[in-house]
Amino acid sequence: MNERMKELVGILNRWAYEYYVLDAPSVEDREYDRLYDELRELERTTGVVLPDSPTRRVGGEPLKGFERHKHIARLFSLDKAVSEDELAAFFTRVQKAANPTYTVEYKFDGLTMCLTYKNGAFVCASTRGNGVEGEDVTAQALTLHSFPLSVSYKGTLEVRGEAVMRLSVLEQYNREHPDEPLKNARNAAAGAIRNLDPKQTALRRPEILFYDVNYRSDGMPASQEEAMAFLKQEGFQTYPFFKVCKTPDEVQEAIDEIEVERKKIDVLTDGAVVKVNEERVREELGYTDKFPRWAIAYKFEAEEAETTVMNVFWQVGRTGKLTPLAEVEPVELAGATVRRATLNNYGDLTKKDVKVNSRVLIRRSNEVIPEILGAVSHTEGSVPVGKPSVCPYCGSPVREVGANLFCSNEACPPRIVQKLAHFCSKNAMDVEGLSEQTLSLLFEKRGVKNFSDLYALTEESFEGLEGFREKKIRNLLSAIEKSKHIPLDRFLYALGIEGIGRVAARDLAAFGSVEAVAARTKEELLALENVGEVTANAILSYFANEENRAELARLKGAGVAPYTERRVTEGAFAGESVVLTGTLSSMGRTEAQKRIESLGGVCQSSVTAKTTLVVAGEKAGSKLDKAKKLDIPVISEEEFLKRLG
Ligand SMILES: [Zn+2]
Repeated sequence: MNERMKELVGILNRWAYEYYVLDAPSVEDREYDRLYDELRELERTTGVVLPDSPTRRVGGEPLKGFERHKHIARLFSLDKAVSEDELAAFFTRVQKAANPTYTVEYKFDGLTMCLTYKNGAFVCASTRGNGVEGEDVTAQALTLHSFPLSVSYKGTLEVRGEAVMRLSVLEQYNREHPDEPLKNARNAAAGAIRNLDPKQTALRRPEILFYDVNYRSDGMPASQEEAMAFLKQEGFQTYPFFKVCKTPDEVQEAIDEIEVERKKIDVLTDGAVVKVNEERVREELGYTDKFPRWAIAYKFEAEEAETTVMNVFWQVGRTGKLTPLAEVEPVELAGATVRRATLNNYGDLTKKDVKVNSRVLIRRSNEVIPEILGAVSHTEGSVPVGKPSVCPYCGSPVREVGANLFCSNEACPPRIVQKLAHFCSKNAMDVEGLSEQTLSLLFEKRGVKNFSDLYALTEESFEGLEGFREKKIRNLLSAIEKSKHIPLDRFLYALGIEGIGRVAARDLAAFGSVEAVAARTKEELLALENVGEVTANAILSYFANEENRAELARLKGAGVAPYTERRVTEGAFAGESVVLTGTLSSMGRTEAQKRIESLGGVCQSSVTAKTTLVVAGEKAGSKLDKAKKLDIPVISEEEFLKRLG
């Protein structure tokens, strides 16, 4: 009897795999049903249900609540890139450490799940939760068919995938349930899995698309390629699109392909995932406290939605600028619930005619907080937003400059915290772990208000502050210590001088030191490509200010020593200001820039009167036109390669 049961389980599981995972059934439904019924009957008479019996796949009784489940290995979320610049920065970081290959996959928009196997048998399914602990959703997952109940691998295994509801399934569900239609595929999938009644899960027919081995007791697969092959071979459903790329340029091509294709596929996606392929390199790169350094999620721009403004309040930024932030009626936008939307400034608010209780159009671009595009309609209850005459935080008078309002108080608390947050941010001093929240706490409880105060922090400074355990404190202090040695351009950017973005900071860093920048005349500053009148004045007044000079001295005293990378001034491109445009077939843009700089040239992002040479690759566009207009010499890729030698 038991032998026959084993045989039936084997056959039925193979057929189900062909049907659900491969989408290539080899038998008629009724043939499947016939054997399924036979198995059910045997199970009923013997009282035995084999662990991988397909009869386990029916939803059980509703649960009272979800048990917690602790993952064996932490399920990291991925750092995000929302622009090509950020993606380029990721490649720069990775390439600096190693020369790996990359993989590109779709980023599915659903609910991340983790499945555990022991001794070849499925044990449980859980949600990602906070990465360390999730909810046990075994009963719900059992109603799905995208994964095997038994695997040939006999060690302990954790695999990771995304639970999704196919768009066609969502559509069909909504046709069948017109009274309670599901709004979007992402919430539908999450709601299906996190439903206490497994029968509801089954009704929505979610699926899981697997993409990672999260833990394997005898060691991780040697590469992402191997991991995917392993998953497929063990019978997990994977998505067919999977690319291995040798260079960042190839990655970009794959992403471009995804951006077009994703509108045609049956699964909701919001981007692409780029991973370092080789496990060996991944280990080398390691993790930040939040993310692996070897992978990044590239998110595409999203759409627009209409909603109602409920309230508008003002945020104070590091320059004292008051930014209107609207609380809006929660609305679904590209798979996320939006509750707040921003406007640029007071002028923007009046120009767009945004009032409380008005309907507005919002757009989630790549910013964290969506932007209000404009008012759609007003109601009788629409109330104009008043212009604040005093700062909502400190009560100081508000200064009006053009379309902007500013708090006039240099010591306004949110201003100080924002200044510190900017100083610590990724593109500035890159002090990992010093969030706005932590800085706010340090300001309130420990009086940290100058940049130099950060370098005076000790373990004792954190004593009695909630949420700071030994390890966290140590990490913070070591991140602060590490930031003392930082490229000069980042340091200059971190100071937060008005108008000094990352690009202008690089221009200034060419002077070689903070002191050298401080000694420049207005004419010398204006001669820089990215410094105009306003910024030049801001730089001069920054260094003329006693308090700023004292602060710079304190930073120096604390051991903050920005360095400059010595610029090469000799070579085939000495004295040239070069602009690259179009695609080069022989190398990526980053590499081309590096090589130009290593031969004494300076790379510019756009064609200006100072440009002396343009390298035009395939599909060169407006930059080439401008170069021609300005009579700037243009060379082809072939000539460029010759010049590189
Ligand atoms: Zn204020």
